[in-house]
Amino acid sequence: MSSPVNGPAPSTLAWDQRAVWHPYTQMYSAPPPLAIARGEGAWLIAEDGRRYLDAIASWWVTLHGHAEPAIVDAIARQARELEQVIFAGCTHRPAAELAARLTEILPAGLSRVFYSDNGSTAVEVALKMALQYWRLRREPARTRFLALEHAYHGDTVAAMSVSAPSYFTADFQPLLFPVLRAPAAWCYRCPVGLSRAACEIDCLQPMETLLAAQAGQIAAVIVEPLLQGAGGMIVHPREFLAGVRRLCDQYGVLLIADEVLTGFGRTGAMFACELAGITPDIICLSKGLTGGFLPLSATVTTEAVYQAFLSPRPEHAFFHGHSFTANPLGCAAALASLQIFAEKPVLRRVGQIEAIHQERLQALRAHPRVGDTRQIGVVAAVELRQDYDYLAACGPRLRQFYLDHGVLLRPLGNVIYVLPPYRITDAELHQVWDVIALSLDSPAVWNA
Ligand code: PLP
Repeated sequence: MSSPVNGPAPSTLAWDQRAVWHPYTQMYSAPPPLAIARGEGAWLIAEDGRRYLDAIASWWVTLHGHAEPAIVDAIARQARELEQVIFAGCTHRPAAELAARLTEILPAGLSRVFYSDNGSTAVEVALKMALQYWRLRREPARTRFLALEHAYHGDTVAAMSVSAPSYFTADFQPLLFPVLRAPAAWCYRCPVGLSRAACEIDCLQPMETLLAAQAGQIAAVIVEPLLQGAGGMIVHPREFLAGVRRLCDQYGVLLIADEVLTGFGRTGAMFACELAGITPDIICLSKGLTGGFLPLSATVTTEAVYQAFLSPRPEHAFFHGHSFTANPLGCAAALASLQIFAEKPVLRRVGQIEAIHQERLQALRAHPRVGDTRQIGVVAAVELRQDYDYLAACGPRLRQFYLDHGVLLRPLGNVIYVLPPYRITDAELHQVWDVIALSLDSPAVWNA
């Protein structure tokens, strides 16, 4: 394990990819993008035959494993029947079955499913739905949103607006709408200077102050429940989420839970909201929805929100629809993924992954470079002892070190995290942690 398993990247590929503009590539301009030919379980196999353990589920998307046979078959079957149809004025069985299935497994009360096609659009839909809901309820002054510090909700304009200011949003500031911002419960860097042992979730106070002063102008509070992903894999106490729900009830504003990352078992429960015993008014789902096979998302809301849109006046319709809304292939993939949950002990496997994470984090906790370790479900993070910075220089060096050792990991600046597909075996997961442990003392990373 001490020496790299992968040699230098090949200089040529069988095909020309110069016309492709990859996201974020300028950060990693030294190594060319990995050319992946195949996926299999937790593995990605490159065009040149090198193998990488996908320890980040391909941007938190792949749920069970790559090329999961039941999902492959479901998509192939569906493609032979109906690949796509307009969803305004038409419907189809996979969309209806998936909506029914989702409402069975979601926290009670979420009963109406609106489809779109990725995490950012799921959030855009939620924000527009909340805004129009209040207009239809004759409270048009409720136009503002309250979001958390360190939030990430996507790369489209409204999703960027509710996301915390960052490298991702800086150049687009003129396009963004102003948002009320409250602290997140980041216990390692406590926003109110307390320790978890001594606190009573005091970090909720600033949110309460904002709500008390401006509730009449606020349409909704939006949160990533229990886990803020791109902000640094920040795990919140369950009491924080329960407290946000309580405040939304108290001040009469909607709660939007962005479960684009956390949905479908990642936190140990099917949905993170369950762990805090809450039902949001609107929930956003994507990424793992299709088992990670196809772009599809769902924004699911309550009967109360849905009913507000029922009107004889055509201008009261919810004017939002994407070409690929409720794409039948995506719906078939999602149904097949949910069937795997129904037939196999998937959440038990999540618990086993969680136990290995805990054991390996425990062993790293005292390392002098480690500032904090945190974990929820299949997500485990090691925050290195330096200022949080997405562009921290150690990030690309660590990433290259991991690739050289056959593991795809992509630190968020100084936060190294593991978020594997559930098919990863115990031995493979230990392999990931062995490489992480090695990286903390590697001269190739730290003396470069
Ligand atoms: N919301 C959360 C919590 C996310 O983590 C992400 C993506 O990482 C998004 C929304 C945006 O999803 P997408 O990349 O599919 O647009």
